[in-house]
Amino acid sequence: MSTPSLLILPGDGIGPEVMAEVRKIVDWFGAKRDLTFDVSEDLVGGAAYDAHGTPLHDDTMARAQDVDAVLLGAVGGPKYDALDFSLKPERGLLRLRKEMDLFANLRPAQCFDALSHFSSLKQEVVAGLDIMIVRELTSGVYFGEPRGIFEEGNERVGINTQRYTESEIDRVARSAFELAMKRDKKLCSMEKANVMESGILWREVVTRVGQDYPEVELSHMYADAGAMQLTRWPKQFDVIVTDNLFGDLLSDLAAMLTGSLGMLPSASLGAPMSNGRPKALYEPVHGSAPDIAGQGKANPIACILSFAMALRYSFDQGDEAARVEKAVEAVLADGVRTADLLGEDGTVPVSTSEMGDAIVAKL
Ligand code: ATP
Ligand code: MG
Repeated sequence: MSTPSLLILPGDGIGPEVMAEVRKIVDWFGAKRDLTFDVSEDLVGGAAYDAHGTPLHDDTMARAQDVDAVLLGAVGGPKYDALDFSLKPERGLLRLRKEMDLFANLRPAQCFDALSHFSSLKQEVVAGLDIMIVRELTSGVYFGEPRGIFEEGNERVGINTQRYTESEIDRVARSAFELAMKRDKKLCSMEKANVMESGILWREVVTRVGQDYPEVELSHMYADAGAMQLTRWPKQFDVIVTDNLFGDLLSDLAAMLTGSLGMLPSASLGAPMSNGRPKALYEPVHGSAPDIAGQGKANPIACILSFAMALRYSFDQGDEAARVEKAVEAVLADGVRTADLLGEDGTVPVSTSEMGDAIVAKL
């Protein structure tokens, strides 16, 4: 087998800081596990704009199409706020997602035991939670036509259109069923079939795809009821599949049941390539965090866990992914905390690179 290829796009703000810690892990795998990656690095977002006047150079786009997996840090920052819409750092990320056709966004919501007592006046977490939300990412109400603000009589009207084709539902449903097969074989599909035509079609297509996965226990919920159930008793779920809009809300909701933004990885997957693995982009859920950028305060765990997802879904290294996750768990169990994971108990936080070093030591 040829060396697996990985394109690293650190981006802006804390992106390069957390990615430096991922590099330590990647190097460790090369040195200690004989698992070497063909790693290349390139610019995205504001960093690409500064160098090339565009948030994503065509060459970078071409490289992204060519590799086994892309790992991205974060894009954006106040420096770029005044830029034209088409030049904004976020457009670089959107172009990657669109041209790679990454239609399934995987957001695990997993609470590490060591953080299960992490609660403050502002947040409570759910110990032992381990669920996965699959959000359709390239269609639905964010993309449907017609859209825009139009004149209608003597006032204006803002229009978005929820639109899903059978094939769009089919492919994201398949991603979710495949995932459920690797987990607890339980899938809940959420839509609003009671009031939306797209929801009726969604339910019908997901049910049909389910016939190819008889081992998976499939259930359906209206998304509003799903939001209630997710807060009332989140552990009843394993994998949830839903559309772009509902997935946007529900994945943020689920995320906050587990702790800090600095802990949350994500994967965006597309159609299978010739090697049978999906096109894939991995990134932490958090943004570029301009308020703490350049201070060595950022928690690198979200980005490190995103790399673990890449090991599992792009490189077929589930055991090695679990090794990374266990190292993170062990470091947290030792009480090592970046500032975002601290309550008010006076513990001194470690820096971004100290957290990375601690995880490598546990590996
Ligand atoms: P974006 O628009 O790019 O999503 P945002 O403003 O929504 O950005 P973030 O940039 O993720 O959100 O930051 C939100 C808050 O969470 C900030 O206060 C930031 O400092 C904090 N934060 C985000 N990521 C981390 C991290 N890895 N470690 C520590 N704190 C973080
Ligand atoms: Mg945000």
